[in-house]
Amino acid sequence: MSLNSLPVATLGTPRIGSKRELKFALESYWSGKTSQADLLQTAAELRAINWARQKARGVDIIPSNDFSLYDHVLDTSLMVGAIPAGYGEAADLDTYFAMARGAQTAQVCGHGHVHHHGLGVPAQEMTKWFDTNYHYLVPEFTSDQTFRLSAFKPLDEFLEAKSLGYHTRPVLVGPVTFLRLGKSPTADFNPLSLIDRLIPVYADILTRLCEAGADWVQIDEPVLALDHDAATAQALQTTYAALAEAVPDLKILVAGYFGGLDDNLDLALSLPIAGLHLDLIRAPEQLSAVLARAPAEWVLSLGVIDGRNIWRADLDSILDRLEPVVSRGHLQLAPSCSLLHVPIDLDLEDRLDLDVKSWLAFSLQKMEELKTLSNGLTRGRHTVHAELVAATSATEARKYSRKVHNDKVRTRLSAITPQASRRGSPVSDRAKVQRDRFRLPAFPTTTIGSFPQTAAVRQARSAYAKGDLTAAQYDTFLKAETERAIRWQEEIGLDVLVHGEFERNDMVQYFGEQLSGFAFTRHAWVQSYGSRCVRPPVLFGDVARAEPMTVAWWRYAQSLTDKPVKGMLTGPVTILNWSFVRDDLPRATVCRQIALAIRDEVASLEAAGARMIQIDEAALREGLPLRRRDWDSYLDWAVEAFRLTASGVTDATQIHTHMCYSEFNDILDAITAMDADVISIETSRSKMELLDAFAARSYPAEIGPGVYDIHAPRVPEVSEMVHLLALARQRLDDGQIWINPDCGLKTRGWAEVRPALVNMVAAAKKLRGRF
Ligand code: GLN
Ligand code: ZN
Repeated sequence: MSLNSLPVATLGTPRIGSKRELKFALESYWSGKTSQADLLQTAAELRAINWARQKARGVDIIPSNDFSLYDHVLDTSLMVGAIPAGYGEAADLDTYFAMARGAQTAQVCGHGHVHHHGLGVPAQEMTKWFDTNYHYLVPEFTSDQTFRLSAFKPLDEFLEAKSLGYHTRPVLVGPVTFLRLGKSPTADFNPLSLIDRLIPVYADILTRLCEAGADWVQIDEPVLALDHDAATAQALQTTYAALAEAVPDLKILVAGYFGGLDDNLDLALSLPIAGLHLDLIRAPEQLSAVLARAPAEWVLSLGVIDGRNIWRADLDSILDRLEPVVSRGHLQLAPSCSLLHVPIDLDLEDRLDLDVKSWLAFSLQKMEELKTLSNGLTRGRHTVHAELVAATSATEARKYSRKVHNDKVRTRLSAITPQASRRGSPVSDRAKVQRDRFRLPAFPTTTIGSFPQTAAVRQARSAYAKGDLTAAQYDTFLKAETERAIRWQEEIGLDVLVHGEFERNDMVQYFGEQLSGFAFTRHAWVQSYGSRCVRPPVLFGDVARAEPMTVAWWRYAQSLTDKPVKGMLTGPVTILNWSFVRDDLPRATVCRQIALAIRDEVASLEAAGARMIQIDEAALREGLPLRRRDWDSYLDWAVEAFRLTASGVTDATQIHTHMCYSEFNDILDAITAMDADVISIETSRSKMELLDAFAARSYPAEIGPGVYDIHAPRVPEVSEMVHLLALARQRLDDGQIWINPDCGLKTRGWAEVRPALVNMVAAAKKLRGRF
């Protein structure tokens, strides 16, 4: 088989820089230390590096406009002039960052205090980009919304690349995806109805790109991976018909990713476009249907390298699949989606276990994999023999490695009976036992777990990591922090205490570092939002716990007080969802392995005397699949994993769970099935309306609806919390209600936390006096 060309495309690359240069440039600009010109220069340098790196790795179709200073959806809002009132008139950088981060007009008064005035605007709402851990800023539209081409970023970056010698394929967020992700203050208005007003703006920018020399554009429409919806389908048809007419000389490749086209296949194939990108990692089976039915002249971009995970690909087997189809021609090779969601460069990992390292591929390595595939297909496998051998030996080594496989874990897992995920008695019976045991006052007060991770705490941790503090010194420091937290909680009259989590760097990493099967990187950052990056653990092998992970800290904290101190754990679903997970086992199985390890920790805590144990599942909801029909199977195994973790205890041990998100309505049956004794949730911003779902389904357990918004540096008044609790009382039985903040307090300062929790206890006392 020999073919002239099989171009490699990347669809998009990470923007933050391999040493997070963008993060630091942004933060220094925001703090006023550097100028706008400095920021823009760093951004231009990062783009130039990105283009050069792709070129050096043989990428043929290099994107432009995949860069963003903060978020590509926000870029689009600015480009089309969807700037809500209050953020600024011009589509400039100030407006951009005001939308991203909120703006407050600060004034320094005569006493040197900084006063914030009410005129400030909050940041736009932020939410997850499909099922990734990337967050975008939710566009806002009014029903009389108009659009106008207001910023020329795609054109500017196309020309910038051109001046550096790169002929790029600009990437735009598709107009339909853009509208569909947006929201409107008026509930009964569908943003998709604005499509006719939006199309001319896209036609305008595309025309300018065409005039500047672009021949292809990539338009991302990941809505194609969502359940078919008539309004979306209509909008896609209208859009691409209009764009084909308006800009006939520009070829449009529509990119669908994060799943298969599925029931959107007919729709996608009916669009008057020149090319289509397919995610063949999440939906390999769609290839044959598309090959059979797509117009012969269409370019098909085959997403064969995983853009959502970090495992080195089995190149030989990809070649096996592709060889029979390459004769079609008009094919391109690409990652399944933009490389935005993977870290940049594996070569920077100088402390990673060498075996584990040999199994991984980050963004730059994935480009090399694509190039190898392309060369193998066009010039023959023998021309890439060495690369294929290296890939195969790595994937084979991983398959059989003793670091990956632990027979004890497998054996134990297969012996688990359904009994193991059931508590001894129903929740109402357990509640009676627990009430007798704890004798808590009405409306008991507690917190979610962490107390402020102050500069001192962080400094001590890094000093210990660097060897500047001995283990004993660090331990003494943490004990002092913990003791102070316990004494203070007693003093202000909280009923159920926490140890404060001062020893934890992160709620997943802390556990991952103590479990087998996890590896941690030094530089494998992935953008979460704006300048925020995360470094997910690499879950590569069977998970087992060698010894107790949290008992010593719990025991120490409990030794200081007679009040119950909650044991504090991260749940299996959250650990799974916040890691890069091995792809050689079903996620459900990996989750059960984690569940067993955490179950052991629950048992150890109970044996040590813990009377209440909280298992946080902050990320349970975000693991929901994009398509509804897949929800039940996910929720089944996720709930089962939680129950497996929580069910090894006696009726008298109270299991708490905590979740911080705002949509429970559609998953309440699953939440109920988790069978916790107490759940704490984030409700303070929703005026307790979230509780309607719990009330409507007669949620049988106890609930702590958050009364303190921990996302703002603001101290809520007693009266506000009393008011929120009154709203909660309209929906729940008094005996069900706990009082707590929305979430952990690690990001706050003690100066706010102290008065806020004092007020919270006062609010509880007010309620107790009245009812
Ligand atoms: N126990 C954790 C804490 O308080 C929970 C955090 C979370 O759910 N995001 O920090
Ligand atoms: Zn939370």
